[in-house]
Amino acid sequence: MLNLNSIFAQQQQTALEFRKSTAKERIERIKRLVAAIEKNEADLVNAVYTDFRKPPQETTATEILSSLMDARHAIAHLPNWMKPRKVGTPAPLIGSRSYIHYEPKGVALIIAPWNYPIYLTLGPLIYALAAGCTAFVKPSELTPHTAAAISGTIAEAFPPQEVVCVEGGPETAQALLELPFNHIFFTGSPAVGKIVMQAAAKHLASVTLELGGKSPVVVDETADLQDAAQKIIWGKLINCGQTCIAPDYVLVHRQHQEALISQMKNVIEQFYNSDGKGIANSTCYARIVNARHFHRIDQLITDALDKGAQIAVGGNTIAQERFIEPTILKQVTPDMKIMQEEIFGPVLPVLAYDQLSKAIEWINGLAKPLALYIFSKKKEHINRILQETSAGGTCINDCIVHLVNNQLPFGGVNHSGIGKTHGFYGFEAFSNARAVLRQRVGFTSVKALYPPYSSKTHRMLQLMRRFFA
Ligand code: NAD
Repeated sequence: MLNLNSIFAQQQQTALEFRKSTAKERIERIKRLVAAIEKNEADLVNAVYTDFRKPPQETTATEILSSLMDARHAIAHLPNWMKPRKVGTPAPLIGSRSYIHYEPKGVALIIAPWNYPIYLTLGPLIYALAAGCTAFVKPSELTPHTAAAISGTIAEAFPPQEVVCVEGGPETAQALLELPFNHIFFTGSPAVGKIVMQAAAKHLASVTLELGGKSPVVVDETADLQDAAQKIIWGKLINCGQTCIAPDYVLVHRQHQEALISQMKNVIEQFYNSDGKGIANSTCYARIVNARHFHRIDQLITDALDKGAQIAVGGNTIAQERFIEPTILKQVTPDMKIMQEEIFGPVLPVLAYDQLSKAIEWINGLAKPLALYIFSKKKEHINRILQETSAGGTCINDCIVHLVNNQLPFGGVNHSGIGKTHGFYGFEAFSNARAVLRQRVGFTSVKALYPPYSSKTHRMLQLMRRFFA
């Protein structure tokens, strides 16, 4: 049993040392993690398969390669990210120089979800190390084999006074949240995000909250339906729909509704049933993580059908296996639960619209999503959707892949998250942007404002108002 208080105190000491760390030293730590990931890769991939039958190819692409790519990007750019950033000097401060110095926040807590259990644990850790922080890492209890493999990987790379992995569920997370962390990086549901933010308030810890929500797709009357169908189905069904930025529902121009559904049906067959053995036998299709989530999704379908929705594709389930067939629903209305909560499974409601303004109204009637996807060839429509909606990120004529570009900030907005990660933005999340102004000895441009105040001060304030305010 780990003594959390004692390790925390040790990490606080290490964090003071790490404040002085050079780019070379931080890169050495990231490389240690990379070596441990590479050494344990097979165990990690097998563990995810054991937890929810995620196809090894998907784990390699979305968990291992993503982590290694983030590490490589951080290693390449860290010396530059760490450089003090010079900023301009306004006229009233003439004679001085100013810059931003990125210093490590200190001891960080990373709480991860189960759906991309490796990447969403080790990805943030890479940025914590890049920023010069020490870290407590808590993987999800819902993927216990992966949590154990991650714990072993971390223990091989770091002593606990630098990075420690603490396995356990909500109680463990609650115990960790009692500690006065300097930064908390949480990835998970909006409901738990609120609990984390409340706990952070006790110590005024800064937070990055990477949350979820209902990410819409708009397919307008100019879209290439075959292209859209392929990209939407890939984005929806990778990880069996359990992806934070998976398309949650589709808003399609009414004239294309049936054609899009039919194209999506074909794509599902191509991807998961090309050998004709049935999707339940496909080696490319994962399972729902546990019985609770299986029943939650099953009930979303039942509720929608009870309220008048129709199954356009799929609909079959195998409870013992936690298998849900890729399912497309139509005749969906806003009063159905499936249109009120994040689906997080392989079920795709399709809603038809006649006017783009109606689609925009639907989107704006729900909380701001983590991602919003637009399939259109019409610039005017694309610009209108971008201007009239808000989302953490957007792909135009594709799904998911904005996450791969490390030059783009990744994160939500309000209900879908607070703060950003990936690339420089990940480094920034774990860093304090310290403002530094260097003045010349024996000189200050604001001397005229020193007391005792007189008519001279008054004249100076008038001049300042005239020229600078
Ligand atoms: P979750 O919120 O249930 O759990 C996430 C983590 O919080 C786990 O480690 C869990 O042990 C811990 N936790 C659970 N209850 C807690 C409590 N009461 N107090 C403290 N900690 C608690 O989320 P999940 O089911 O693991 O993941 C699914 C959610 O995560 C979805 O909403 C999805 O959209 C979101 N998500 C977001 C991103 C992103 O990058 N924005 C990525 C993946 C998943």
